Amino acid sequence: MRYILIAFILIFCSCVNKHELAISSINSKDLEKDLLILSDDSLQGRAPLTIGETRTVAYLQKRMKEIGLEPAFGSSYKQEVPLVQLTSHVPDNFIIRTPNGQISLKSGEDYTAGCPVLREEIDIKSSEIIFAGFGVNAPEKGWNDFEGIDVKGKTIIVLVNDPDFYTGDTSLFNGKAMTYQGRWRYKFEEAERQGAVACFIVHETAAAGYPWSVTTLQTNKAELDIDDQHLEKPKCLLTGWITKDAAIRLFSSCNMDYETMKLKASTKGFHSISMNAKFDINIKNKWVKASSKNVAGLIKGTERPDEVIVYCAHWDHLGIGNPVNGDSIYNGASDNAAAISWMFSIAKAFKKGEAPKRSVLFFSPTAEEAGLLGSTYFVNHSPFLTSKTVACINTDVILFLGKFKDVTVTGLGHSELDKYVEEEASKQGRYVCADPNPENGMFFRSDQLPFLKAGVPAIFAKGYSNQVDLGKSKTQEKIDEYWNNTYHKQCDVYDPKTQSLDGLCEDAKLFYSLGNRLANETYFPKWYKQSEFYTQR
Ligand SMILES: [Zn+2]
Repeated sequence: MRYILIAFILIFCSCVNKHELAISSINSKDLEKDLLILSDDSLQGRAPLTIGETRTVAYLQKRMKEIGLEPAFGSSYKQEVPLVQLTSHVPDNFIIRTPNGQISLKSGEDYTAGCPVLREEIDIKSSEIIFAGFGVNAPEKGWNDFEGIDVKGKTIIVLVNDPDFYTGDTSLFNGKAMTYQGRWRYKFEEAERQGAVACFIVHETAAAGYPWSVTTLQTNKAELDIDDQHLEKPKCLLTGWITKDAAIRLFSSCNMDYETMKLKASTKGFHSISMNAKFDINIKNKWVKASSKNVAGLIKGTERPDEVIVYCAHWDHLGIGNPVNGDSIYNGASDNAAAISWMFSIAKAFKKGEAPKRSVLFFSPTAEEAGLLGSTYFVNHSPFLTSKTVACINTDVILFLGKFKDVTVTGLGHSELDKYVEEEASKQGRYVCADPNPENGMFFRSDQLPFLKAGVPAIFAKGYSNQVDLGKSKTQEKIDEYWNNTYHKQCDVYDPKTQSLDGLCEDAKLFYSLGNRLANETYFPKWYKQSEFYTQR
């Protein structure tokens, strides 16, 4: 009996030691090495389908091999992602016939649109326009903007965000925090489900979470999409945005007041209505097909190898653009080179620790910036069943400010994973808080989204709102500075002299512990009922 006890204690101690060893293997210096290489000018901004992709993918594979990860796709670390580069040439002036004469919308200034379909010419004739409120059909919230109206073959105009954004109510659509039904992506998906031929969203900066200029980036430019069946025969042939000013003009010419209609649409019981306006439009499409790569390495579980925890950090960024102060390369250090170093340091820790019972996947998708394309493709072509995918742990957009007191959870309140983060954060003496700007819908703007839509709970969390020396309000100033001056700009670089990875290092330790816990238990974290992604697990 005594020997059994001693043996047990020895095994226990070696486990504890291995865990300590794993955690202490994570350090800022190692994070820095990968980050400096991945954000170097030689990778040319890591744009998909360029020499930047070739170099980045080669580096990711080399590192995965060094760390001792197995190839995740048969004998390869790479997964081919078939893409289409599609350019829609829209008319300079888009004419709408209203009860009070014609309205003309100028491309880029008043409207922006594209035709996500592999057809050379798209001709829409005499399409009737319906104002469809927020374009939301959410049975779980007892809300349906399409009740009692058939929009098949018609054009819908919808508002961005969701009703709570305007009413200040918190009971239906999660208050100020944007729900997925508030995102443009959802609106276009719902338009397709409803069989509308076209869908325009009215842009308002606060409600969308970004300025008009973001929506016009793709006007008459090649846009990347996944080359699969959804581009063959969609019902919704035209998707786009109009400015708030254009909407005010259009509504008024249709004998409606935009603000009044917005208020009505935010109130339960609203019914979509025809605006008695019509238009014709002719659009020419051109495209080329190409293929990019997802990259992933694996640690196979010792007991339940078919169950998996996915760590995720996209490798792509914006490539090369017009020079600013002589610099044309978008290095994307914070977005998302640093996240890849975070993921690699976690992978190394797993190799140092006790081998996990479930599999652990380290996944770096392509074309996140082009609309989460790599991760979307992966979720539909994963080597693991979604029902066996325990959780996705994603990170993106890292602040180089040093250590944080907080762990900010973007998308707090969706699943039991919140509790895991809380417990691990408290072990580090940190507290969990919600995203200070949840109206931006950040939870739906990175690679966790395809996992959420497939029913896999996901975490997107990091030190963000309360830097240890700065405190909350000074940190908020730094956050604002980042979004205004650094995000998606050429100056997104990492400078070891003035910046620090100590916060990222703490995050890596936290998410190693969290993932390690998930990888050794049998439980599948559940969705909370109020989540729009709720599904029984
Ligand atoms: Zn990113």
